Amino acid sequence: MKVTIVGCSGSFPGPDSPASCYLVEAEGFRLLLDLGSGSLGALQRHIDLYDVDAICLSHLHADHCLDICGYHVVRTYGPAAPYPRIPVYAPADAPRRLAAAYGMPEEPGLETAFEFRPLSPGRFTVGPFEVTAGLVNHPVEAYGFRVSHGGRTLAYSGDTGECAELVKLADGADLMLCEASFVEGPDLIPGLHMTGRQAAEHAAKAKAGRLVLTHLVPWNDSARVLEEASCGAFGGPIELARSGAVYDLT
Ligand SMILES: [Zn+2]
Ligand SMILES: [Zn+2]
Repeated sequence: MKVTIVGCSGSFPGPDSPASCYLVEAEGFRLLLDLGSGSLGALQRHIDLYDVDAICLSHLHADHCLDICGYHVVRTYGPAAPYPRIPVYAPADAPRRLAAAYGMPEEPGLETAFEFRPLSPGRFTVGPFEVTAGLVNHPVEAYGFRVSHGGRTLAYSGDTGECAELVKLADGADLMLCEASFVEGPDLIPGLHMTGRQAAEHAAKAKAGRLVLTHLVPWNDSARVLEEASCGAFGGPIELARSGAVYDLT
């Protein structure tokens, strides 16, 4: 399984990265975890625009899903259109919400390009991957994902505050992509996002192999986020996500 960080900027695109988008590949199958603001552009550095086989959307905040609108244009009007519909696993409200974001009537909405499949907690198969979705701690319906293939596992937090379910999703994962949107301070908002320290605590509890801090907010000092994570209980390697970074989990 190969994991490419397409976008890792938190809540909005930054100067060096789009918002959330991760490309997971195995056996020629290409799965996207999130397709946030700006990520459709950077995605084209890594794969052909038409080669996406499936998409999982962690939740319906703009920085995780909004480039679905642009991608509908690609698959509906591209040179060899129409391209086959691809599955989009997302919260049940996605068809209505994303059609509204595009400015399209609910019928047919974006269904001409995408086959929306409502997420619920549990395990399902996407191409060669076994995916587990778990509800995480965010103000809207939001999922974290565990993606396994060939005995190796990726865990992705999506957006979440401290969350026992995330520890389960990341149990023994080779690579944990965990959000670290906040820096430590007296007024941390609960149930929204985590700091580097909290991300490291979750990775330690899950006994993950490697921690990559993501959803990095441009106004934060990312060196401080890394430092706060490094002071925590996690003994494995920790690094900051970077658009274009590739992890080979084989
Ligand atoms: Zn976000
Ligand atoms: Zn969010």
